[in-house]
Amino acid sequence: MKYIVVTGGVMSGLGKGITAASIGRLLVDMGYKVTPIKIDPYINIDAGTMNPFQHGEVYVLKDGTEVDLDLGHYERFIGVELTGDHNITTGKVYSRVIEKERKGEYLGQTVQIIPHITDEIKSWIRRTASKNDADICLIEIGGTVGDIESMPFLEAVRQMHNEEKEEDFILVHVTLVPLDSGGEQKTKPTQHSVKELRSLGLHPDVIVGRCRERLKESTKKKIALFCDVSPEAVISAEDAEDIYEVPLKFKEEKLDEILLKRLRLDRKKERKEWTDMVKRLKELEKEITIAVVGKYIDVRDAYISIREALKHGGIAAGCKVNVLWIDSEEFEWFDEVEIEADGVLVPGGFGKRGSEGKIKAIEYARVNDIPFLGICFGFQLAVIEFARNVLGLEEANSNELADTPHPVIDLLPEQKNLDKLGGTMRLGDIEVTIKPNTIAWKLYGKDKIVERHRHRYEVNPEYIPEFEEKGIVFSGFSDSGRRMEILELPNRRFFFATQFHPEFKSRPYAPSPPFVGLVKAALSYAEEYGTLAKEAGEGEVKDQIKGREEYQEEN
Ligand code: GLN
Repeated sequence: MKYIVVTGGVMSGLGKGITAASIGRLLVDMGYKVTPIKIDPYINIDAGTMNPFQHGEVYVLKDGTEVDLDLGHYERFIGVELTGDHNITTGKVYSRVIEKERKGEYLGQTVQIIPHITDEIKSWIRRTASKNDADICLIEIGGTVGDIESMPFLEAVRQMHNEEKEEDFILVHVTLVPLDSGGEQKTKPTQHSVKELRSLGLHPDVIVGRCRERLKESTKKKIALFCDVSPEAVISAEDAEDIYEVPLKFKEEKLDEILLKRLRLDRKKERKEWTDMVKRLKELEKEITIAVVGKYIDVRDAYISIREALKHGGIAAGCKVNVLWIDSEEFEWFDEVEIEADGVLVPGGFGKRGSEGKIKAIEYARVNDIPFLGICFGFQLAVIEFARNVLGLEEANSNELADTPHPVIDLLPEQKNLDKLGGTMRLGDIEVTIKPNTIAWKLYGKDKIVERHRHRYEVNPEYIPEFEEKGIVFSGFSDSGRRMEILELPNRRFFFATQFHPEFKSRPYAPSPPFVGLVKAALSYAEEYGTLAKEAGEGEVKDQIKGREEYQEEN
């Protein structure tokens, strides 16, 4: 087994996850089987209870483990499906060690960070690497070198370095090379962080310098000299237009060759899918705009898998997808709203805040026949919108959000008996059966699919006949028909919603069918209405809401 450890210095947010994922991609392209592990030094057992406002998206794996969004980058870049083993947290390591201690497995010894915690970390890494039958195990250590929390993990990899053969273990350190006011590339922060790393007994084999521009030869030489690596092992990582270009940029910097040389491996293959995909991405000429109506739109990373899946849909449909982020809470200020976009997407979510705004957005899309995709909470709110405005059940709601005489979204009877909500979440891969001759069936081209879930509430079975009578087709279901998984309105251009989260299984070269459906419909809408290539840029919140300024003045 070969190990590549990726650490970060200077500050967080340097794109260490993208760097690690891109290294993984380079190795896959050369014919190697890679298994990634993300180490999160926080004490939480997993990311399930973490607030997206603070931490970005919670990504869900096939076994239902809720993890950091970096694992999503790994799955998309490397093309693997991961499990909870691939995410080690301080919480997991300590709880396992404490459990062993209680069972008396340490035979009366004093249980300590070294060797007991570090042994647990090492055996977890090795076990996961061999269980996945990988050639190379890629380990990203979260946080920044020097953080108290990451110390036991750095110590564990230091020990591994000693225990493994020289050609089986390398360390890649990602740092920042800032520009000073005169535009000069400064190497001092890198020097300091490598010094910190060395004081822990670790020495980088490769240094990746994140910089606004390409690193100059003189900068590389200086870093090489002060940090004791060869100049070709200093890799320039300037900002890329799209994250999918990063593996190609690394290749230009010959990182693939450095890795091969240092690990004493040969290039087994020359796979081209990724390069071809990036080429297609860069050649897209048409542009459409999809409005994403959510609660966390100010947090860049909260809907990262949705944003990526839209991009994947665009690569397949042949257009660039701009995202117009709309804060659903602001939608609640007005009686009348208007969305200037070629499609509307309402993503997953929890709780009352902003939910009425999302319902308004769904109504707008349905009434004006704008392509719509609802995901999880977005699916449930589409059911509520339909109940209120088509069935005429004005007070229809979800039992999660309000006490209502018409709980069209509710817990199933067996869930109600459980007194606490924690732990009743339906998580991870679940098989969904698709009804023939529906939109879902055409999109997926199969009768059975497996998609990832993260929810608690369901469409209330009592209301289903009434919904169907008025035109909703529940085209996907699970649990022998007790739970509705997909809904569609056949009389609309594209009105489609899923109880599951298709975004988590979307890949740049294998896009998720519902996203392809939305983007294709939005493209034909844009072509019909001449709204192609609007200037709303990704990440930008354009002033879209009628009367917003007056409202702000009045209040
Ligand atoms: N809050 C809803 C539920 O628990 C939807 C969850 C989601 O969108 N992930 O069922």
